[in-house]
Amino acid sequence: MSRWVLFADGKLVVEHEGEAYRLPACEEAPSAFTSESFKLGDDCFGAMIDAEALLPESMELMDLRTSYGFISHEEYTLAGKGWELLFWDSHTRFCGDCGGKMRRHSPISKICARCGREIFPQLSPAVLVLVRKGDEALLVHARTFRRPFYGLVAGFVETGESLEECVAREVMEETNLRVKNIRYFGSQAWPYPANLMIGFTADYESGELRFMDHELSDGGFFTRDNHPEIPPPPSLARTLIDSWLNESVGATD
Ligand SMILES: [Zn+2]
Repeated sequence: MSRWVLFADGKLVVEHEGEAYRLPACEEAPSAFTSESFKLGDDCFGAMIDAEALLPESMELMDLRTSYGFISHEEYTLAGKGWELLFWDSHTRFCGDCGGKMRRHSPISKICARCGREIFPQLSPAVLVLVRKGDEALLVHARTFRRPFYGLVAGFVETGESLEECVAREVMEETNLRVKNIRYFGSQAWPYPANLMIGFTADYESGELRFMDHELSDGGFFTRDNHPEIPPPPSLARTLIDSWLNESVGATD
């Protein structure tokens, strides 16, 4: 029996038995592949399948992010990796140098059939930062948030800058604040579609809070006892905020 990370119409195929959900485990995939299938791990394979095909009654399609609450952490991680590789595969069908057809060379590389150029999946690194000011933390509402929660200042790393420079720049650009004591917190693969989130803490140094209109719509410094709704798991922002709420991230002033 193999486990399958299958996507149809951008959604993950999950198998359910009563209330329990998991990745489908079967000898053969339940529908025709619309991408090349590839090995994701021991006895685990990934592929896109036909969205129109009828799945067995025991299987259904689920939004990848939603699946976090239903399947095991190990399977969610595999599914996320599968989604990143499928996204990469579908966006690198031709060589960027010569236009030749790209062929899969290994689970994580492709080679151009014409010029031999080899490519690997690319990640977009992005930083998140929890800015502390005494007992308070900066929580912001970005215009891109789909729900009314308040998260952390975040942004993509630009060419030619370090992660710490990116943190300082994003905080300045989005909130007009200068920060100090920028410290690494942790990281998380974020397969939406191919990001690596890198979390930091920092302390307020100076400046008046002012939001960039086109990025943030609201925010402020909040205490642990009185803060707005925060992002749901499994985001790194939530882990960082939880860590602050549990006081394991203490202010250093
Ligand atoms: Zn080429």
